[in-house]
Formats: sequence, C-alpha cells, structure tokens
Amino acid sequence: MVDVLVVGGGIAGVSIAYELAARAGVLLAEAEPALATHTTGRSAAVYAPSYGGPVIRALTAASERRYRDLETELDTPPLLTPRPVLWLGADDAGAAHLDALPAPRITPAQARELCPFLREVKAAARDDSASDIDVMALHDGYRRGLRARGGTVRTASPVTEITRDGSGWQARVGDQEVHAGLVVNAAGAWADELAARAGVPAIGLRPMRRTAAVASGAVPVDPTWPLVCDAADRYYFRPEGRRLLVSPSDETPSEPCDAKPEEVDVALALARINEVTTLGLRRVHTAWAGLRSFVADRAPVVGAWPGHPGFAFFAGQGGYGIQMAPALAAYGAAVVLGKPVPGDVNVPARDVLPGRSAN
Ligand SMILES: Cc1cc2nc3c(=O)[nH]c(=O)nc-3n(C[C@H](O)[C@H](O)[C@H](O)COP(=O)(O)OP(=O)(O)OC[C@H]3O[C@@H](n4cnc5c(N)ncnc54)[C@H](O)[C@@H]3O)c2cc1C
Repeated sequence: MVDVLVVGGGIAGVSIAYELAARAGVLLAEAEPALATHTTGRSAAVYAPSYGGPVIRALTAASERRYRDLETELDTPPLLTPRPVLWLGADDAGAAHLDALPAPRITPAQARELCPFLREVKAAARDDSASDIDVMALHDGYRRGLRARGGTVRTASPVTEITRDGSGWQARVGDQEVHAGLVVNAAGAWADELAARAGVPAIGLRPMRRTAAVASGAVPVDPTWPLVCDAADRYYFRPEGRRLLVSPSDETPSEPCDAKPEEVDVALALARINEVTTLGLRRVHTAWAGLRSFVADRAPVVGAWPGHPGFAFFAGQGGYGIQMAPALAAYGAAVVLGKPVPGDVNVPARDVLPGRSAN
C-alpha cells in the first residue's frame, strides 16, 4: 500500500518523487536494473534559459534559484557551472532564426573573439545565463533525498499491469502487487504505453532519436569555449574536457526503445561542424543516442485527463527535461496532490494539461 506510485527512474521520476515525498508515501519503480539508464543518462547536460518555447523558458528560468537551493538541500557538489551559449548564424538560414531568440545580439567580430575557429559569421547572439549541469549529481541527489524522506526505490521492477481498484490503482511492480492511491506516469518514451496498460487515453507522445558524440580534430580544445548552437538547430558543440561534445541536432521518429547511434548521424555532426569551423574534427571517441519525447506543442504534459483521475502524466520533457527539472518537479507535485502551484512558476495549468488544444 503506497500513497503514490511513480513509474520511471529518469530525472522526471526521481525529481517528482522527491517533491511528492514531502507530503506522501512514495514508491518509485524503474524497469531497468539501474536508474537513469535511458534518456537522462544520455543528455548533453546543458542549462540554457534561451532554449525552447515559452513554457520551457518559464520553467527553466524558475529552476535557476532551485538549483542553488538543491545544492544545500540535497548536499550535492555544484550543480551548475557557467558556460555561455553562442547562438550562431553562420549562414542566412541560421541568421534568420536569431530574431526569435531571447538572447542579446553580438557582432560577428565579438563572436569570433569568443570562438576564433569560426569560419563565416553572418550574425550571432550570446546567452550568458547558461551553464553545464552536473546531471548525475542532480539525479543522485534527488534519489538520496527521496530515500531520506522515507520514499522507496525499486529497480529491475517494470510496471506491467495497472488496473483501477476503488478510488486507487492495483499495479504489478516487478514480482509484487502494489496498491497505490495515485499513479504518476514518468515513463519517458514509454508514457503512452503505460497509459494504455492502465486504460487511460494516450497523450500523443512522439519519441525522437537524438545523437551525440565526443570527437577531436586538428585544433586543441579550450575547455572554456562556449556552447555553440546553430540558431537554425542543425548542430551544436561544446567542450567536453579537452575534446568536443557534438550533435547533428537530429530528430528521427522512433518506437520507445534503447536508442543506438547511427554512423550516418555521427558523420553528419562532424561534417556540419567542420563546414562552419576550422576545427577539423576527424576522430570519434564515443557516440550515443537517446529518445527526446514530445507532444505536438513541445511543452511537457503534467496532470490527469478529465474523467481519469488519479493517473497523472509527468511526461513529454523533450529536449529540456534536465534544465527545467527543479521547477517542473515542484510544479508537478503540486498539480498531482491538488495543491496550489509555486507562485514563481509562471505556467498556467491549461498549457500543460493532457488534451490541451495545441495537441
Ligand atoms: C542527446 C541528447 C541530448 C540532450 N541534451 C539535453 C540537455 O542538454 N539539457 C536538457 O535539459 N535535456 C537534454 N536532453 C533531454 C533530456 O535528457 C530528457 O528530457 C530527460 O532525460 C527525460 O527524462 P525522463 O525521466 O522523462 O526520461 P528517461 O530518462 O528515459 O526515464 C524514463 C524511465 O522510465 C522507465 N520506464 C518506462 N516504462 C516503465 C515501466 N512500465 N515500468 C517501470 N519503469 C519504466 C524507463 O526504463 C526509463 O528509465 C537531451 C536528450 C538527448 C537524447
């Protein structure tokens, strides 16, 4: 018997489970033998307040102070290490996107001063509020915090059946039967599969594969370089120690699965970055892929469908699930428990509920 069963042990699951555990008994169930095996363990670890649509930006901005608070609350190492974002318009297509970005413009000369390896710069903008995130410290901090609040974590425990039982739910969790008052669906790319198992309508989640790699080339990498993002979203790269983390910003539709990188996508990242820089990237040290899952308007889905109380979605984190996690978790826990949402998170419930008109 638990108050809340949280399904999924990525950043979404551990963060909301921690917030819920302040007021309720929580069991977190993860299918894999280890937490953060899927998308959470495969991110680029970027906190960029100028990235994403208005809902994402509001949640990301509201997370900044929470990151600092969590360092003390969860006793973690520093969670954010400043690294500016250079939004690059290397060609007309890139430059055309810069006006839509909430980051101040800099001149091409200033962009080159920041990144001497750039070939052509038509236009650029700079976001100084961005950082690298210590994702594993954040995730592990939430896990430890959940345990300290009396919550339970079960790994290697897929939730295979969920049926309504009175006002709550009966669930098969690994080899055990669990009765839960509420279910929180934080199952990442599998959120619609889990909903179907519970007889709850789908939210129309679309998992998309994204590839990343660590590469090196002709030019030594200065670890203080910024994150360079194509304003038209065709590539990004940032230092990873003395090497570069690169991505072709791919979005390939996928079934929920253990995503693997395709050679062609890694090659595309190198080709696109070599075209706009003199970095001469040649060697790939490691590559990976993960599923970023979106609904149509690319904002997260938080709460229950009308007519399906007690089964709350906490899904659709897309490409921003780490950077907005602290505010989204506090907001989501309030929605799930029917409490007032935090006053500093400027996101109306109608913008995140399942079935909103944009879907
Ligand atoms: C290459 C790449 C770069 C990215 N870069 C960034 C970035 O820089 N900044 C940022 O903020 N975000 C980034 N993201 C996005 C971010 O990683 C995701 O938004 C976030 O990790 C999603 O977390 P999640 O907990 O929803 O999903 P997941 O981490 O996938 O967790 C879902 C979990 O649910 C479990 N599960 C599913 N079904 C069941 C079941 N029936 N029973 C039990 N468990 C179940 C799965 O095993 C999985 O562990 C990136 C993503 C990728 C792929």
